[in-house]
Amino acid sequence: MALSPMMQQYMNLKEQYNDSLLFFRLGDFYEMFFDDAILASKELELTLTGRDCGLTERAPMCGVPHHAVDQYINKLIKKNYKVAICEQMTIPQKGVKIVERDVVRIITPGTIIEENMLDEKENNYICAMYKSLNQVGIAYCDVSTGEFYIIEFNNDIFSRVLDELIRIKPAELLVNNEMFLYLSEQYDLINIINSMPTLYSEDKFELEYASDIINKQFKKTFDENKSSISAGGALLSYLHETQKNALEHINFIYTEENEFVKIDASTSRNLEISSTLRGSTKKGSLLWVLDKTKTSMGGRLLKRWLKDPVYNLNSINNRLEAVDEIKSNPIWHQNIIDDLKKINDIERLVTKLSYNTINPRDCESLKQSIVMLPTLIKQVLSFDNSLFSVIADELDSLDDVHTLLQNAINENPPVATKDGGFIKKGYSSELDDLRDISNNAKEHVRNMEIQEREQTGIKNLKIKYNRVFGYFIEITNSYKDKAPYRYIRKQTLANAERYITEELNTLEERIMSAQEKINKLELQLYDKIKIALRTNIARLQRTAKAVAMLDVLQSHAKVALENNYTRPNMNDDGIINISEGRHPVVEKSIEGKNFVPNNTKLNMNENRFLIITGANMAGKSTYIRQVALITLMAHIGSFVPAHSAEICLVDKIFSRVGASDDLFMGQSTFMVEMSELANILTNATARSLIILDEIGRGTSTFDGLSVAWSVVEYICDKNKLGAKTLFATHYHQLSEFEGKVSGVKNYCVSVREQGEDIIFLRRIVRGGADKSFGIHVAKLAGLPDEVIDRANIILERLEEADINHVTITTSEEAGRNLNSKEDYSQIQLDMTTMLPYSDILDEIKQMDMTTTTPIDAFYLVNRLKDKMK
Ligand code: ADP
Ligand code: MG
Repeated sequence: MALSPMMQQYMNLKEQYNDSLLFFRLGDFYEMFFDDAILASKELELTLTGRDCGLTERAPMCGVPHHAVDQYINKLIKKNYKVAICEQMTIPQKGVKIVERDVVRIITPGTIIEENMLDEKENNYICAMYKSLNQVGIAYCDVSTGEFYIIEFNNDIFSRVLDELIRIKPAELLVNNEMFLYLSEQYDLINIINSMPTLYSEDKFELEYASDIINKQFKKTFDENKSSISAGGALLSYLHETQKNALEHINFIYTEENEFVKIDASTSRNLEISSTLRGSTKKGSLLWVLDKTKTSMGGRLLKRWLKDPVYNLNSINNRLEAVDEIKSNPIWHQNIIDDLKKINDIERLVTKLSYNTINPRDCESLKQSIVMLPTLIKQVLSFDNSLFSVIADELDSLDDVHTLLQNAINENPPVATKDGGFIKKGYSSELDDLRDISNNAKEHVRNMEIQEREQTGIKNLKIKYNRVFGYFIEITNSYKDKAPYRYIRKQTLANAERYITEELNTLEERIMSAQEKINKLELQLYDKIKIALRTNIARLQRTAKAVAMLDVLQSHAKVALENNYTRPNMNDDGIINISEGRHPVVEKSIEGKNFVPNNTKLNMNENRFLIITGANMAGKSTYIRQVALITLMAHIGSFVPAHSAEICLVDKIFSRVGASDDLFMGQSTFMVEMSELANILTNATARSLIILDEIGRGTSTFDGLSVAWSVVEYICDKNKLGAKTLFATHYHQLSEFEGKVSGVKNYCVSVREQGEDIIFLRRIVRGGADKSFGIHVAKLAGLPDEVIDRANIILERLEEADINHVTITTSEEAGRNLNSKEDYSQIQLDMTTMLPYSDILDEIKQMDMTTTTPIDAFYLVNRLKDKMK
């Protein structure tokens, strides 16, 4: 037995696209067969049926209706499958055995353009990474907007690859052999991306091939940046392979220069820049506070700015000035907002144009956006700042495009083009004529109905239409005897008879052929309109970018106004001086309570390293984060939550939190903490800002203190790092540094004791804290009284013991290296270290030495030793 011709066709296609699920178009359905059907029926919860395929056994089959296909594809894509869409390429005709079919596009997680599968304010990137011996090239692209970027680097490969992966968050990753091997050895990296990278053919990364394809796409020659060209070329050829489309909207390469503030992965997570640590929601993140954008394009750009704060005084000041100007012109600001609100996602509409999937309703949506541009441009031109002239230059009023759309497309067009009705009257005289004929003919039908009623005397005679019979005359049974001889019976219903006449037939033919011609002509005209629109892709994209920029600036102005932010004064002298600074997110989250503002003073000299001590829950973490966030906000051109702020240019921002229960990537938390610290110590410079929160907490006090200790020394040392740092710590011993190591200043968050309770004042004051207030916090947290009482007794006892004296000598003082053993001996027991051993102490106390034999003592010591382990 042999496969039926259609099944043979299926098999041939499946063979070519064997790594995708093949959605095979059969009339109104997309069907899947064999293994695909079994898999899809499970993943999509579809009923598995069968179809004769010419073999003895039926082929397993399942299918989805074509109009609902997006939701099914979406489910599969989310599970990292690829879907090959196979369409019917010819119209089924009698006598022709088999319809031609072909795959028109492969949808993969990184190449989605369907708006209902995408988050409107989120980019969806596909990324290619190429690694040679000591170089990495990265290219990434959002196919739904046409943005295409390349980056290249040749040192710190591990941390850069990690950072870029976190920054880009690719939905799909293509790699060459060497990169594949490299990544498979890095478990951490694999954990970041939610699927395995795709090993893509080495030839596609080959430089000659890659630069050829790049040069063709971007109509420009790129000669430097070898690795990134390899990555870019491979990415493009993958896109061509899967999208089967010229991708005209991908026409510009953004090369990333070294002008951004570097924010690595953990910093971005710790500072909760675009999503929260817990729950990963936008709500509660910095982005949540800052996003007052009105367009999807603006929303995406704001996210990008947060990822890439600028390291350039001029650009920052330009942005700040522009924001200031918008802010001080509330009426103009409101005008801009009103205009922006009506602007749709031009970038993604352009993508549809490029894919030739733009429908008449999209055209209308494009027109409605374009129509806002002239007033918007006028408004932008009334501002003074140079950034506005840049925006105005890029904003194109697109009058010609508007005129075209205005003249050609109906105001409320149908989504589907097959039934016509979307080309406007007056656009084509040929079309208008045809429509007249069709309309006249319909009028004739109405007239004929009146005429027939008169002639037959049947008052309820009707001329009706349906798809099967076309036009017919209907007479109810009670009058059917009156039907004239020329009526030809077509159908008998329970209560009526249906007839046709020769005249009605002729009329029908006229109507039908006119309608057919109309539909055909509308489609032809629409094709031409689309071609005309496509010549404007680049203009539309430039305009979209300018709209996005304007939107982010107005969003900054809005946020500044609503939250009472101030314009930061930028400097390049290493000075951070914040007066009454606030945490932008916490101040919005502690409803009803007042946020207590605090000052910060950091510079390159005596105030380089601030050690912040204070009770648990006092506000240390909030404070140091607020400094980092204010600094970051200034670098994206945003106003900041403070009374006044001088902010210096920083090249990198680091934020680390001591090991908590957050089992990130399954590594030992202390190990993570230390490797992150190592990363800071190797990558930070004197121009960096470092935020350390309880570093050294993830291990026993001795170790932790020692690590914290030497870290302070290293960072403080101008010859080694000298980076500006805020270090929140519960090791109040570290306060000893001030005066001994230059650049260190102590601060603590003040609390007031009131009887047994403490009141958090949230004020940062000079000096070190001398107590931990741990038990108070435990009480606040609601530990049972019995436990609190017991803890107080233990604390008292520990304080009585003669071990609460701590001496610390700095290595500077001792004039030698802290790594030597002697220095550890200088650090004596801290009373808090003894807490876990209190029962051991009890046991020793209870020993009666007069009755203990040496062997008893030996066993006891042995047992205690085990306990301590
Ligand atoms: P710590 O790190 O010292 O343990 P946190 O910084 O986590 O303390 O602060 C604990 C809580 O105190 C925060 O969640 C916040 O609700 C509140 N808080 C912190 N700083 C302030 C402030 N300046 N004003 C008002 N409330 C604050
Ligand atoms: Mg804390």
